[in-house]
Amino acid sequence: MIDLQNKHFVVIGAARSGLAAAQLLKKKGADIFVSDYGPISDKAKSLLEQASIPYEEGGHTAKAGAAEFAVISPGVPTETDIVQQYLKNGKEVFAEIEVASWFVKNNIYAVTGSNGKTTVTQWLSHLWQTAGKNYTLAGNIGFAFSDKVENNTGDIILEVSSFQLDHIKDFKPRVSVLLNITPDHLNRYNYSLEAYASSKFRITENQTSEDCFIYNFDDPVIADHLQELQSKENRPALWAFSNTQEVPQGAFVRGDHIIFKFNNKEEPLMSVNEIGLRGRHNLNNGLATALAARAAEIKNDAIRESLRSFSGVEHRLEMAREVEGVKYINDSKATNVNAVWFALDSFNVPLTLILGGRDKGNDYSEIEPQIREKVHTIIAIGESRERIKKQLEEAAPNFVTVETMGGAVRAAQKIAKRGEVVLLSPACSSFDMFDNYEHRGKIFKEEVNKL
Ligand code: ADP
Repeated sequence: MIDLQNKHFVVIGAARSGLAAAQLLKKKGADIFVSDYGPISDKAKSLLEQASIPYEEGGHTAKAGAAEFAVISPGVPTETDIVQQYLKNGKEVFAEIEVASWFVKNNIYAVTGSNGKTTVTQWLSHLWQTAGKNYTLAGNIGFAFSDKVENNTGDIILEVSSFQLDHIKDFKPRVSVLLNITPDHLNRYNYSLEAYASSKFRITENQTSEDCFIYNFDDPVIADHLQELQSKENRPALWAFSNTQEVPQGAFVRGDHIIFKFNNKEEPLMSVNEIGLRGRHNLNNGLATALAARAAEIKNDAIRESLRSFSGVEHRLEMAREVEGVKYINDSKATNVNAVWFALDSFNVPLTLILGGRDKGNDYSEIEPQIREKVHTIIAIGESRERIKKQLEEAAPNFVTVETMGGAVRAAQKIAKRGEVVLLSPACSSFDMFDNYEHRGKIFKEEVNKL
Protein backbone atom coordinates (compact mmCIF):
# COMPACT_ATOMS: atom_id res chain seq x y z
CA MET A 1 0.00 0.00 0.00
CA ILE A 2 1.11 3.55 -0.76
CA ASP A 3 2.06 5.76 2.18
CA LEU A 4 -0.87 8.15 2.07
CA GLN A 5 0.44 11.08 4.06
CA ASN A 6 0.04 14.13 1.81
CA LYS A 7 -0.25 12.02 -1.33
CA HIS A 8 -2.45 13.78 -3.81
CA PHE A 9 -5.54 11.88 -5.02
CA VAL A 10 -8.38 12.99 -7.23
CA VAL A 11 -11.66 11.16 -6.82
CA ILE A 12 -13.65 11.18 -10.05
CA GLY A 13 -17.39 10.91 -9.55
CA ALA A 14 -19.16 12.05 -6.40
CA ALA A 15 -21.74 9.27 -6.09
CA ARG A 16 -21.96 6.99 -3.06
CA SER A 17 -18.76 5.01 -3.47
CA GLY A 18 -16.66 7.94 -4.75
CA LEU A 19 -17.71 10.00 -1.75
CA ALA A 20 -16.95 7.18 0.63
CA ALA A 21 -13.48 6.70 -0.87
CA ALA A 22 -12.77 10.44 -0.65
CA GLN A 23 -13.77 10.57 3.01
CA LEU A 24 -11.73 7.50 3.85
CA LEU A 25 -8.59 8.70 2.07
CA LYS A 26 -8.90 12.10 3.72
CA LYS A 27 -9.16 10.46 7.14
CA LYS A 28 -6.01 8.50 6.36
CA GLY A 29 -4.05 11.68 5.68
CA ALA A 30 -4.17 11.96 1.88
CA ASP A 31 -4.67 15.22 0.04
CA ILE A 32 -8.02 14.88 -1.77
CA PHE A 33 -9.87 16.69 -4.51
CA VAL A 34 -13.26 15.51 -5.84
CA SER A 35 -14.30 16.24 -9.41
CA ASP A 36 -17.61 15.38 -11.04
CA TYR A 37 -18.55 15.80 -14.68
CA GLY A 38 -22.16 16.47 -13.70
CA PRO A 39 -23.85 18.21 -10.78
CA ILE A 40 -23.08 17.09 -7.20
CA SER A 41 -26.09 16.66 -4.90
CA ASP A 42 -26.53 19.04 -1.97
CA LYS A 43 -26.22 16.16 0.44
CA ALA A 44 -22.89 15.10 -1.08
CA LYS A 45 -21.64 18.67 -1.00
CA SER A 46 -22.37 19.02 2.67
CA LEU A 47 -20.57 15.74 3.42
CA LEU A 48 -17.54 16.96 1.49
CA GLU A 49 -17.61 20.30 3.25
CA GLN A 50 -17.85 18.65 6.65
CA ALA A 51 -14.76 16.63 5.80
CA SER A 52 -12.95 19.72 4.43
CA ILE A 53 -12.61 18.13 1.00
CA PRO A 54 -12.52 20.60 -1.92
CA TYR A 55 -14.58 19.71 -5.01
CA GLU A 56 -15.74 20.86 -8.41
CA GLU A 57 -18.86 19.96 -10.40
CA GLY A 58 -20.21 20.36 -13.93
CA GLY A 59 -16.92 19.44 -15.62
CA HIS A 60 -13.28 18.59 -14.98
CA THR A 61 -10.81 21.48 -14.83
CA ALA A 62 -7.01 21.19 -14.90
CA LYS A 63 -7.17 20.51 -11.15
CA ALA A 64 -8.87 17.19 -11.83
CA GLY A 65 -5.89 16.01 -13.84
CA ALA A 66 -3.22 17.30 -11.51
CA ALA A 67 -3.06 14.55 -8.87
CA GLU A 68 -0.60 11.66 -8.54
CA PHE A 69 -3.41 9.08 -8.40
CA ALA A 70 -7.03 8.89 -9.46
CA VAL A 71 -9.83 6.94 -7.80
CA ILE A 72 -12.89 6.34 -9.95
CA SER A 73 -16.47 5.56 -9.11
CA PRO A 74 -17.82 2.43 -10.85
CA GLY A 75 -20.13 4.64 -12.90
CA VAL A 76 -17.21 6.38 -14.61
CA PRO A 77 -16.06 4.56 -17.76
CA THR A 78 -12.34 3.96 -18.27
CA GLU A 79 -12.67 5.57 -21.72
CA THR A 80 -13.50 9.03 -20.37
CA ASP A 81 -10.89 11.67 -21.18
CA ILE A 82 -9.97 12.36 -17.61
CA VAL A 83 -9.25 8.69 -16.81
CA GLN A 84 -7.36 8.30 -20.07
CA GLN A 85 -5.28 11.33 -19.21
CA TYR A 86 -4.11 9.63 -16.00
CA LEU A 87 -3.40 6.33 -17.71
CA LYS A 88 -1.49 7.95 -20.59
CA ASN A 89 0.67 9.78 -18.11
CA GLY A 90 1.55 6.47 -16.48
CA LYS A 91 -0.36 7.30 -13.29
CA GLU A 92 -2.34 4.74 -11.35
CA VAL A 93 -6.13 4.70 -11.38
CA PHE A 94 -7.83 2.82 -8.56
CA ALA A 95 -11.30 1.43 -8.03
CA GLU A 96 -13.03 2.30 -4.80
CA ILE A 97 -12.91 -1.33 -3.59
CA GLU A 98 -9.14 -1.35 -4.13
CA VAL A 99 -8.75 1.71 -1.91
CA ALA A 100 -11.03 0.29 0.78
CA SER A 101 -9.19 -3.03 0.76
CA TRP A 102 -5.94 -1.30 1.80
CA PHE A 103 -7.43 -0.71 5.23
CA VAL A 104 -8.85 -4.10 6.15
CA LYS A 105 -7.23 -7.28 7.37
CA ASN A 106 -10.52 -9.20 7.47
CA ASN A 107 -11.19 -12.06 5.09
CA ILE A 108 -13.02 -10.83 2.00
CA TYR A 109 -15.71 -12.96 0.32
CA ALA A 110 -16.17 -11.32 -3.08
CA VAL A 111 -19.00 -12.19 -5.47
CA THR A 112 -19.03 -11.29 -9.15
CA GLY A 113 -20.78 -12.43 -12.35
CA SER A 114 -23.19 -11.08 -14.93
CA ASN A 115 -26.33 -12.14 -13.05
CA GLY A 116 -27.01 -13.25 -9.50
CA LYS A 117 -24.51 -11.11 -7.59
CA THR A 118 -27.04 -9.47 -5.29
CA THR A 119 -28.91 -12.71 -4.71
CA VAL A 120 -25.74 -14.56 -3.71
CA THR A 121 -24.38 -11.73 -1.57
CA GLN A 122 -27.68 -11.56 0.31
CA TRP A 123 -27.78 -15.33 0.57
CA LEU A 124 -24.29 -15.32 2.07
CA SER A 125 -25.40 -12.68 4.52
CA HIS A 126 -28.34 -14.88 5.50
CA LEU A 127 -26.05 -17.88 5.85
CA TRP A 128 -23.51 -16.05 8.01
CA GLN A 129 -26.42 -14.93 10.22
CA THR A 130 -27.77 -18.45 10.42
CA ALA A 131 -24.33 -19.71 11.42
CA GLY A 132 -23.95 -16.93 14.01
CA LYS A 133 -20.79 -15.74 12.31
CA ASN A 134 -19.74 -12.12 12.38
CA TYR A 135 -19.70 -10.28 9.03
CA THR A 136 -20.11 -6.98 7.23
CA LEU A 137 -22.00 -6.64 3.96
CA ALA A 138 -20.73 -4.12 1.41
CA GLY A 139 -20.04 -3.29 -2.20
CA ASN A 140 -22.31 -2.80 -5.15
CA ILE A 141 -25.19 -3.61 -2.87
CA GLY A 142 -25.92 -0.18 -1.43
CA PHE A 143 -23.20 0.27 1.19
CA ALA A 144 -19.82 1.37 -0.15
CA PHE A 145 -16.93 -0.79 1.04
CA SER A 146 -15.03 2.38 1.98
CA ASP A 147 -17.76 3.23 4.48
CA LYS A 148 -17.32 -0.13 6.16
CA VAL A 149 -13.61 -0.40 6.83
CA GLU A 150 -13.52 1.07 10.34
CA ASN A 151 -14.37 -0.90 13.46
CA ASN A 152 -15.51 -4.06 11.82
CA THR A 153 -14.63 -7.52 12.85
CA GLY A 154 -15.51 -10.71 11.06
CA ASP A 155 -15.69 -11.41 7.38
CA ILE A 156 -16.47 -8.94 4.63
CA ILE A 157 -19.08 -10.08 2.14
CA LEU A 158 -18.71 -7.96 -0.93
CA GLU A 159 -20.66 -7.64 -4.17
CA VAL A 160 -18.25 -6.65 -6.92
CA SER A 161 -18.99 -5.43 -10.44
CA SER A 162 -16.60 -5.87 -13.35
CA PHE A 163 -16.15 -2.10 -13.57
CA GLN A 164 -14.62 -2.19 -10.11
CA LEU A 165 -12.38 -5.09 -11.05
CA ASP A 166 -11.02 -3.08 -13.96
CA HIS A 167 -9.07 -0.91 -11.55
CA ILE A 168 -7.79 -3.14 -8.80
CA LYS A 169 -4.14 -3.60 -7.92
CA ASP A 170 -3.72 -5.47 -4.63
CA PHE A 171 -7.36 -6.44 -3.96
CA LYS A 172 -7.17 -10.01 -2.68
CA PRO A 173 -10.30 -11.88 -1.62
CA ARG A 174 -9.88 -14.91 0.59
CA VAL A 175 -12.77 -16.42 -1.38
CA SER A 176 -13.92 -15.22 -4.79
CA VAL A 177 -17.09 -16.37 -6.51
CA LEU A 178 -17.68 -16.08 -10.27
CA LEU A 179 -21.29 -16.95 -11.05
CA ASN A 180 -21.49 -16.66 -14.84
CA ILE A 181 -20.34 -14.57 -17.78
CA THR A 182 -22.97 -13.55 -20.31
CA PRO A 183 -23.13 -10.54 -22.61
CA ASP A 184 -24.07 -7.43 -20.63
CA HIS A 185 -22.47 -4.00 -20.44
CA LEU A 186 -20.47 -4.86 -23.55
CA ASN A 187 -20.69 -1.21 -24.56
CA ARG A 188 -18.07 -0.58 -21.85
CA TYR A 189 -15.74 -3.27 -23.19
CA ASN A 190 -15.53 -2.27 -26.87
CA TYR A 191 -18.20 -4.92 -27.52
CA SER A 192 -15.68 -7.64 -26.68
CA LEU A 193 -16.90 -10.57 -24.59
CA GLU A 194 -13.25 -11.51 -24.25
CA ALA A 195 -12.41 -8.19 -22.58
CA TYR A 196 -15.45 -8.43 -20.31
CA ALA A 197 -14.53 -12.00 -19.29
CA SER A 198 -10.91 -11.07 -18.57
CA SER A 199 -12.16 -8.27 -16.40
CA LYS A 200 -14.29 -10.68 -14.35
CA PHE A 201 -11.36 -13.06 -13.95
CA ARG A 202 -9.30 -10.30 -12.38
CA ILE A 203 -11.08 -11.21 -9.15
CA THR A 204 -8.50 -14.04 -8.90
CA GLU A 205 -5.49 -11.92 -9.86
CA ASN A 206 -3.96 -11.61 -6.39
CA GLN A 207 -5.30 -14.81 -4.90
CA THR A 208 -2.75 -17.40 -3.78
CA SER A 209 -2.79 -20.97 -2.57
CA GLU A 210 -4.36 -20.11 0.78
CA ASP A 211 -7.36 -18.63 -1.08
CA CYS A 212 -10.24 -20.17 -2.94
CA PHE A 213 -11.95 -19.49 -6.28
CA ILE A 214 -15.53 -20.74 -6.68
CA TYR A 215 -16.84 -20.88 -10.24
CA ASN A 216 -19.65 -22.10 -12.45
CA PHE A 217 -18.47 -25.35 -14.08
CA ASP A 218 -21.21 -25.20 -16.73
CA ASP A 219 -20.39 -21.75 -18.06
CA PRO A 220 -18.56 -22.04 -21.40
CA VAL A 221 -16.95 -18.61 -21.21
CA ILE A 222 -15.58 -19.36 -17.75
CA ALA A 223 -14.32 -22.75 -18.98
CA ASP A 224 -12.40 -21.01 -21.78
CA HIS A 225 -10.58 -18.82 -19.31
CA LEU A 226 -9.94 -21.37 -16.63
CA GLN A 227 -6.91 -22.99 -18.22
CA GLU A 228 -4.83 -19.91 -17.73
CA LEU A 229 -5.64 -19.89 -14.03
CA GLN A 230 -5.07 -23.64 -13.75
CA SER A 231 -1.54 -23.30 -15.05
CA LYS A 232 -0.67 -20.45 -12.72
CA GLU A 233 1.81 -21.18 -9.95
CA ASN A 234 0.58 -20.52 -6.42
CA ARG A 235 -3.01 -20.29 -7.60
CA PRO A 236 -6.10 -20.42 -5.38
CA ALA A 237 -7.94 -23.70 -4.73
CA LEU A 238 -10.46 -24.21 -7.55
CA TRP A 239 -13.92 -25.21 -6.38
CA ALA A 240 -16.57 -25.72 -9.02
CA PHE A 241 -20.35 -25.94 -8.89
CA SER A 242 -22.64 -27.52 -11.44
CA ASN A 243 -26.25 -28.62 -11.71
CA THR A 244 -25.64 -30.77 -14.80
CA GLN A 245 -22.43 -32.75 -14.22
CA GLU A 246 -20.18 -34.03 -11.48
CA VAL A 247 -17.24 -31.78 -10.65
CA PRO A 248 -13.75 -32.81 -9.48
CA GLN A 249 -13.85 -30.56 -6.40
CA GLY A 250 -16.85 -28.58 -5.16
CA ALA A 251 -20.62 -29.08 -5.31
CA PHE A 252 -22.88 -30.84 -7.80
CA VAL A 253 -26.26 -32.52 -8.17
CA ARG A 254 -26.78 -36.28 -8.48
CA GLY A 255 -30.41 -37.34 -8.92
CA ASP A 256 -32.10 -34.77 -6.77
CA HIS A 257 -29.33 -34.54 -4.22
CA ILE A 258 -26.70 -31.88 -3.68
CA ILE A 259 -23.31 -33.36 -3.01
CA PHE A 260 -20.11 -31.76 -1.79
CA LYS A 261 -16.92 -33.33 -3.01
CA PHE A 262 -13.53 -32.49 -1.53
CA ASN A 263 -10.32 -34.48 -1.94
CA ASN A 264 -12.28 -37.29 -3.58
CA LYS A 265 -14.59 -37.64 -0.59
CA GLU A 266 -18.29 -37.12 -1.12
CA GLU A 267 -20.67 -35.62 1.46
CA PRO A 268 -24.40 -35.59 0.68
CA LEU A 269 -25.75 -32.18 1.67
CA MET A 270 -29.50 -32.06 0.99
CA SER A 271 -32.22 -32.53 -1.59
CA VAL A 272 -32.51 -29.84 -4.26
CA ASN A 273 -36.25 -29.72 -3.54
CA GLU A 274 -35.58 -28.29 -0.11
CA ILE A 275 -33.96 -25.12 -1.48
CA GLY A 276 -36.04 -22.08 -0.62
CA LEU A 277 -35.81 -20.35 -4.02
CA ARG A 278 -37.21 -21.63 -7.28
CA GLY A 279 -35.37 -21.93 -10.59
CA ARG A 280 -32.24 -23.52 -11.95
CA HIS A 281 -30.36 -20.25 -11.64
CA ASN A 282 -31.17 -20.18 -7.94
CA LEU A 283 -29.91 -23.72 -7.59
CA ASN A 284 -26.63 -22.42 -9.02
CA ASN A 285 -26.74 -19.46 -6.66
CA GLY A 286 -27.39 -21.79 -3.73
CA LEU A 287 -24.50 -24.10 -4.69
CA ALA A 288 -22.15 -21.11 -4.95
CA THR A 289 -23.33 -19.83 -1.59
CA ALA A 290 -22.91 -23.24 0.02
CA LEU A 291 -19.35 -23.55 -1.27
CA ALA A 292 -18.38 -20.09 -0.02
CA ALA A 293 -19.75 -21.01 3.40
CA ARG A 294 -17.81 -24.25 3.32
CA ALA A 295 -14.65 -22.29 2.50
CA ALA A 296 -15.38 -20.28 5.65
CA GLU A 297 -15.52 -23.58 7.57
CA ILE A 298 -19.19 -23.17 8.39
CA LYS A 299 -20.81 -26.45 9.39
CA ASN A 300 -23.02 -28.31 6.91
CA ASP A 301 -25.99 -28.07 9.30
CA ALA A 302 -25.99 -24.29 9.11
CA ILE A 303 -25.48 -24.40 5.33
CA ARG A 304 -28.48 -26.71 4.97
CA GLU A 305 -30.63 -24.61 7.22
CA SER A 306 -29.85 -21.42 5.36
CA LEU A 307 -30.34 -22.95 1.92
CA ARG A 308 -33.81 -23.94 3.09
CA SER A 309 -34.81 -20.72 4.76
CA PHE A 310 -33.58 -18.00 2.39
CA SER A 311 -36.58 -16.27 0.86
CA GLY A 312 -34.88 -14.25 -1.85
CA VAL A 313 -34.42 -10.60 -2.65
CA GLU A 314 -37.04 -8.04 -3.66
CA HIS A 315 -37.54 -7.59 -7.44
CA ARG A 316 -35.85 -10.93 -8.28
CA LEU A 317 -38.59 -13.45 -9.08
CA GLU A 318 -40.44 -12.04 -6.11
CA MET A 319 -43.95 -13.30 -5.50
CA ALA A 320 -46.08 -10.14 -5.49
CA ARG A 321 -49.61 -11.48 -4.96
CA GLU A 322 -52.02 -14.21 -5.94
CA VAL A 323 -55.34 -13.00 -7.37
CA GLU A 324 -58.06 -15.49 -8.34
CA GLY A 325 -55.56 -18.30 -8.54
CA VAL A 326 -53.11 -16.35 -10.74
CA LYS A 327 -49.65 -15.65 -9.32
CA TYR A 328 -48.10 -12.27 -10.15
CA ILE A 329 -44.30 -12.37 -10.06
CA ASN A 330 -42.05 -9.30 -9.96
CA ASP A 331 -38.71 -9.86 -11.70
CA SER A 332 -38.09 -6.19 -12.47
CA LYS A 333 -34.35 -6.71 -11.93
CA ALA A 334 -34.22 -8.86 -15.08
CA THR A 335 -32.63 -6.13 -17.19
CA ASN A 336 -31.04 -8.46 -19.73
CA VAL A 337 -32.20 -11.36 -21.89
CA ASN A 338 -30.23 -13.98 -19.98
CA ALA A 339 -32.01 -13.16 -16.72
CA VAL A 340 -35.36 -13.59 -18.52
CA TRP A 341 -34.18 -16.93 -19.87
CA PHE A 342 -33.67 -18.17 -16.30
CA ALA A 343 -36.96 -16.65 -15.16
CA LEU A 344 -38.85 -18.53 -17.91
CA ASP A 345 -36.90 -21.65 -17.10
CA SER A 346 -38.19 -21.48 -13.51
CA PHE A 347 -41.85 -22.05 -14.41
CA ASN A 348 -43.74 -24.95 -15.86
CA VAL A 349 -47.20 -23.40 -16.06
CA PRO A 350 -48.61 -21.24 -18.88
CA LEU A 351 -47.27 -17.71 -18.66
CA THR A 352 -48.25 -14.16 -19.49
CA LEU A 353 -44.99 -12.26 -19.89
CA ILE A 354 -44.57 -8.49 -19.52
CA LEU A 355 -41.50 -7.40 -21.46
CA GLY A 356 -39.95 -4.10 -22.46
CA GLY A 357 -38.34 -0.86 -21.37
CA ARG A 358 -35.13 0.70 -22.66
CA ASP A 359 -33.45 -1.70 -25.04
CA LYS A 360 -29.68 -2.24 -24.80
CA GLY A 361 -29.39 -3.79 -28.27
CA ASN A 362 -31.08 -6.99 -27.11
CA ASP A 363 -31.32 -10.13 -29.19
CA TYR A 364 -34.58 -11.70 -28.08
CA SER A 365 -34.11 -14.82 -30.19
CA GLU A 366 -32.34 -16.43 -27.21
CA ILE A 367 -35.69 -16.70 -25.39
CA GLU A 368 -37.85 -17.51 -28.41
CA PRO A 369 -37.91 -21.30 -27.89
CA GLN A 370 -39.05 -20.90 -24.27
CA ILE A 371 -41.68 -18.37 -25.31
CA ARG A 372 -43.03 -20.81 -27.88
CA GLU A 373 -43.18 -23.50 -25.23
CA LYS A 374 -44.61 -21.61 -22.24
CA VAL A 375 -45.86 -18.11 -22.98
CA HIS A 376 -49.36 -17.63 -24.39
CA THR A 377 -49.34 -13.83 -24.16
CA ILE A 378 -46.61 -11.22 -24.44
CA ILE A 379 -47.46 -7.77 -23.17
CA ALA A 380 -44.90 -5.25 -24.42
CA ILE A 381 -44.34 -1.89 -22.76
CA GLY A 382 -41.86 0.96 -23.04
CA GLU A 383 -39.55 2.26 -25.73
CA SER A 384 -38.61 -1.18 -26.99
CA ARG A 385 -42.16 -2.46 -27.58
CA GLU A 386 -42.04 -2.15 -31.37
CA ARG A 387 -38.64 -3.84 -31.55
CA ILE A 388 -39.95 -6.67 -29.35
CA LYS A 389 -43.03 -6.92 -31.53
CA LYS A 390 -40.87 -7.32 -34.63
CA GLN A 391 -38.78 -10.07 -33.07
CA LEU A 392 -41.33 -11.96 -31.00
CA GLU A 393 -44.83 -11.35 -32.31
CA GLU A 394 -44.84 -14.67 -34.12
CA ALA A 395 -43.57 -16.60 -31.10
CA ALA A 396 -46.66 -16.32 -28.88
CA PRO A 397 -50.37 -16.74 -29.73
CA ASN A 398 -51.22 -13.29 -28.31
CA PHE A 399 -49.19 -10.13 -28.53
CA VAL A 400 -50.35 -6.88 -26.94
CA THR A 401 -48.64 -3.50 -26.68
CA VAL A 402 -49.64 -1.14 -23.89
CA GLU A 403 -48.60 2.31 -22.68
CA THR A 404 -48.38 1.94 -18.91
CA MET A 405 -47.58 -0.60 -16.23
CA GLY A 406 -51.17 -0.33 -15.02
CA GLY A 407 -52.35 -1.14 -18.54
CA ALA A 408 -50.01 -4.13 -18.67
CA VAL A 409 -51.25 -5.56 -15.37
CA ARG A 410 -54.90 -5.11 -16.31
CA ALA A 411 -54.35 -6.67 -19.73
CA ALA A 412 -52.64 -9.60 -18.02
CA GLN A 413 -55.53 -10.08 -15.60
CA LYS A 414 -57.97 -10.32 -18.50
CA ILE A 415 -56.10 -13.15 -20.15
CA ALA A 416 -54.38 -15.19 -17.40
CA LYS A 417 -56.27 -18.20 -16.05
CA ARG A 418 -56.34 -19.86 -12.63
CA GLY A 419 -53.14 -21.82 -11.97
CA GLU A 420 -51.11 -19.63 -14.32
CA VAL A 421 -48.42 -17.03 -13.74
CA VAL A 422 -48.10 -13.40 -14.83
CA LEU A 423 -44.42 -12.56 -14.96
CA LEU A 424 -42.84 -9.11 -15.16
CA SER A 425 -39.34 -9.91 -16.46
CA PRO A 426 -38.61 -7.04 -18.82
CA ALA A 427 -35.17 -7.84 -20.39
CA CYS A 428 -34.62 -4.09 -20.56
CA SER A 429 -33.55 -1.26 -18.32
CA SER A 430 -36.27 0.87 -16.77
CA PHE A 431 -35.10 4.40 -17.44
CA ASP A 432 -37.57 5.13 -20.25
CA MET A 433 -40.54 5.06 -17.84
CA PHE A 434 -39.18 4.77 -14.29
CA ASP A 435 -36.42 6.08 -12.01
CA ASN A 436 -34.83 2.64 -11.76
CA TYR A 437 -35.74 -1.06 -11.64
CA GLU A 438 -36.85 -0.80 -8.01
CA HIS A 439 -39.33 1.90 -8.95
CA ARG A 440 -40.60 -0.23 -11.84
CA GLY A 441 -41.07 -3.23 -9.54
CA LYS A 442 -42.83 -1.11 -6.93
CA ILE A 443 -45.30 0.29 -9.48
CA PHE A 444 -45.94 -3.24 -10.78
CA LYS A 445 -46.76 -4.39 -7.25
CA GLU A 446 -48.96 -1.36 -6.61
CA GLU A 447 -50.92 -2.08 -9.79
CA VAL A 448 -51.23 -5.74 -8.84
CA ASN A 449 -52.51 -4.73 -5.43
CA LYS A 450 -55.25 -2.68 -7.10
CA LEU A 451 -56.68 -5.72 -8.88
P1 ADP B 1 -27.03 -8.90 -10.16
O1 ADP B 1 -26.79 -8.34 -8.80
O2 ADP B 1 -25.83 -9.63 -10.71
O3 ADP B 1 -27.61 -7.95 -11.14
P2 ADP B 1 -29.44 -10.18 -9.13
O4 ADP B 1 -29.28 -11.16 -8.03
O5 ADP B 1 -29.89 -8.81 -8.79
O6 ADP B 1 -28.10 -10.10 -9.97
O7 ADP B 1 -30.43 -10.80 -10.23
C1 ADP B 1 -30.63 -10.12 -11.46
C2 ADP B 1 -31.58 -10.88 -12.36
O8 ADP B 1 -30.97 -12.09 -12.79
C3 ADP B 1 -32.89 -11.30 -11.69
O9 ADP B 1 -33.90 -11.25 -12.69
C4 ADP B 1 -32.63 -12.72 -11.25
O10 ADP B 1 -33.83 -13.49 -11.16
C5 ADP B 1 -31.69 -13.25 -12.35
N1 ADP B 1 -30.67 -14.16 -11.84
C6 ADP B 1 -30.30 -14.34 -10.53
N2 ADP B 1 -29.32 -15.25 -10.44
C7 ADP B 1 -29.04 -15.67 -11.70
C8 ADP B 1 -28.12 -16.61 -12.25
N3 ADP B 1 -27.28 -17.31 -11.48
N4 ADP B 1 -28.11 -16.76 -13.60
C9 ADP B 1 -28.96 -16.05 -14.38
N5 ADP B 1 -29.86 -15.18 -13.92
C10 ADP B 1 -29.91 -14.96 -12.59
